Amino acid sequence: MKMAALIVAGGAGSRASAGLPKQYARLGGITMLSRAVRAFAASHVDAIQVVIAAGEGERYAAAIADINDPRLLPPVVGGRTRQVSARNGLVALRPHAPDLVLIHDAARPFVTGDIIARVGAALTDGPAAIAAVPLADTVKEVGDDGKVAATLDRGRLWGAQTPQGFHYGHILAAHVRAEAAGIENLTDDAAVAEWAGLPVTLVLGSPSNRKITTVEDLAMAERSLFAPDIRIGQGFDVHRLVKGDHVWLCGIRIPHTHALEGHSDADVGLHALTDALLGAIGDGDIGQHFPNTDPRWKGAPSHLFLAEAARRVAMRGGSIGNADVTILCEAPKIAPHREAMRERIAEVLGVDTARVGVKATTTEGLGFTGRREGIAALATATVILC
Ligand code: MG
Repeated sequence: MKMAALIVAGGAGSRASAGLPKQYARLGGITMLSRAVRAFAASHVDAIQVVIAAGEGERYAAAIADINDPRLLPPVVGGRTRQVSARNGLVALRPHAPDLVLIHDAARPFVTGDIIARVGAALTDGPAAIAAVPLADTVKEVGDDGKVAATLDRGRLWGAQTPQGFHYGHILAAHVRAEAAGIENLTDDAAVAEWAGLPVTLVLGSPSNRKITTVEDLAMAERSLFAPDIRIGQGFDVHRLVKGDHVWLCGIRIPHTHALEGHSDADVGLHALTDALLGAIGDGDIGQHFPNTDPRWKGAPSHLFLAEAARRVAMRGGSIGNADVTILCEAPKIAPHREAMRERIAEVLGVDTARVGVKATTTEGLGFTGRREGIAALATATVILC
């Protein structure tokens, strides 16, 4: 089945961006039109046809300059109404003979591959399927006097979105018939299909696939793009206490009656924190990156592990919000070393000491830590991805 995308960008609406048709307004530095085209280019369509307004050729060329995809056809010019623009686009697709067409408004730049796939898949069961969302607001019908005349049954009301998918021959014929009947103000293609008597299936769209119409919509969309993506990771580690005269905790060597047993220097604090950072970015755990069967890590100082976790965070475009470690032991006393530990962790992570917390607690003589058989550590870290 050959499937085409038809992106309608012929509107002159400039309420969202003083003087500029909204589809050419930028969101996060990328025009809405380019975002919409990219979404379809990333999906399984065989051709992408964009409809633009007369005289917008240069603006269009600039908007899609960063898209190098042979499936993107030269733009066609729209008409007086959205219905006319969609029809022009459908006619332009004729030489490509698609079986199916997904018609989308350029003013919905956040359409996802999931929604595109759902609409496309629904066309195996019928000639028309549209993305839609159940209405959250109760809808009032307003009378001529400006007062509420009726409250509609919200359970039966859905907000239509795009893409709207059709069997190409059916929707083209419906558009041509509507034109012949002098109808040219239908506001979406499903309305054209309904007028022609085609059954239209609803598939779930998404509230995020919203239409950007006003300055406020654009500002909200911009804010949502730059909302910080904050991740939280946790880590936990235990090492056994054995014969010895010092322990490594949070990168500090502390004289002690015993030592911690491990393949590396057995620094439970840094191990827990390493796992917290890896967890925050969903990148496995310390055992996966530094297996204790690898002779390279025999007796290794654990700051190497922590530094590698920090490097992996940076590679993901992340920065560390904070790191917090709790050590569970009866001895040694942590408080005298707390500041040195914080400074050492901050140094390895390359962050300000104010972003690092180190705490300790006994377990009141209970459990393996209470019996001084081992030391445990818990850690939490936040990572801000951008
Ligand atoms: Mg460990």
